[in-house]
Amino acid sequence: MRTAMLWYPVRTLGYGERLGVWVQGCSRHCEGCISPTFRDANQGTLLTPEEILSRIPEHVIPDGLTVSGGEPFEQPEELLALVRLFRERYADGDILVFSGYTLAQLREMQCPAVSETLERISVLVDGAYHPEKNSGVGLRGSDNQQIHVFRHARRYADAENAPRRLQGVLMEDRLWLIGIPPGAE
Ligand code: SF4
Repeated sequence: MRTAMLWYPVRTLGYGERLGVWVQGCSRHCEGCISPTFRDANQGTLLTPEEILSRIPEHVIPDGLTVSGGEPFEQPEELLALVRLFRERYADGDILVFSGYTLAQLREMQCPAVSETLERISVLVDGAYHPEKNSGVGLRGSDNQQIHVFRHARRYADAENAPRRLQGVLMEDRLWLIGIPPGAE
């Protein structure tokens, strides 16, 4: 998988302490893109699912896996391989994926890897990011995006209204803020 960034533990993108994976590459053109540096499909590092999951400390059972980007579904086979391995290692694995595609668009692709991924994940936050619809609350960038909860419903019961938090992490001498940014005032 072409990958922009990995971090463990991520505490601000889903339930509990999770492995965060940001894929590299996105052909979409959301105005006010939330992560423009992750769009160039020629950048990033190619990693196997095993290499990605090796970021989780050996003795730890993570609360979940969050995949963002970039556009995860533009690497459908790689995304599925990661999802399969995570569920194999952590049977009750809670997997949350952010995508610029809507659920309907993903289903219209009629791609077996996309379909199987949708069957195996817990939550999909879908749709293009619209900065003018960013109300500053909830587990989504803007209010047009839908939070589809397929599994772990109790964990995500308040996902539309939950307050947002940002987590500062220092990576290679650079400070990154992980989480969904607050809306424009
Ligand atoms: S889907 Fe995400 S990464 Fe792609 S253009 Fe939209 S906001 Fe940017």
